Amino acid sequence: MKLLEGKTAIITGATRGIGKGIAQIFAQQGANIAFTYASSASKAEELEKEISSLVKIKGYQSDASDYDAAQNLVEQVLTDFGTLDIVVNNAGITKDNLILRMTKEDWEEVIRVNLNSVFNLTKAATKPMMKQKSGSIINMSSVVGVKGNAGQSNYAASKAGIIGFSKSIALELGSRNIRCNVVAPGFIETEMTEVLDEKTVQEWRNNIPLKRGGTPEDIANACLYLASDLSGYVTGHVLNVNGGMLTY
Ligand code: NAP
Repeated sequence: MKLLEGKTAIITGATRGIGKGIAQIFAQQGANIAFTYASSASKAEELEKEISSLVKIKGYQSDASDYDAAQNLVEQVLTDFGTLDIVVNNAGITKDNLILRMTKEDWEEVIRVNLNSVFNLTKAATKPMMKQKSGSIINMSSVVGVKGNAGQSNYAASKAGIIGFSKSIALELGSRNIRCNVVAPGFIETEMTEVLDEKTVQEWRNNIPLKRGGTPEDIANACLYLASDLSGYVTGHVLNVNGGMLTY
């Protein structure tokens, strides 16, 4: 039996990288997919084509940092799909710099896209999930949100904020059978990390106990567990998926 048969999932930022991997794995497990993106319309069409033979799938251009857009997205998805069972808040950006050089704009944009977005869509999804008395919300943090990183104070703050937010939502909505968990990926090789030079990347790989960078599929499988009934008694948890980079 497929683990997500007949469920509807919203995945933010699924035109590439981790989000795309989650859409692919969820579809293989029977979930209908509503996904968002910021601007990559042609990549969105490619993903729709790739998956449409498996399940119902639709891409929505929707800015995750925009409160009203999240409300509209949920309304639209309920009209198009009928139910909403799973939300994966995956969309995220980096604007790295040391604090001395970090601008107010870079701070605000990262907080808006990475953290406000999680509030926006969780808030919009809460009512329909409460009505149907079930739901699984999965928020994408990072090893950097758990331990911090020089040059990424804005990103680390946004990803640590996601953890506090998610634990609070788990406490608030547990009695309504809505679970909320966090995935904290380590170093995952995607377009977000392609900008780094090969020597740095090789050093990172060598320092990881499992001796490799993670793949979008590694993260997607963790999300599959948290989205499915296999994790029916798990809420408020931070699942590290990092090859042993961090063991607390
Ligand atoms: P990525 O390859 O850069 O992809 C980002 C996705 O988010 C794209 O689909 C992009 O859409 C979308 N997006 C960006 N801003 C958006 C906005 N304002 N509204 C809606 N969608 C938006 O990123 P990734 O490496 O897969 O990372 C995915 C998540 O995992 C992020 O939250 C990231 O912080 C987290 N993470 C990544 C790593 C890693 O090593 N890669 C490690 C830890 C955590 P467009 O294509 O339209 O721009």
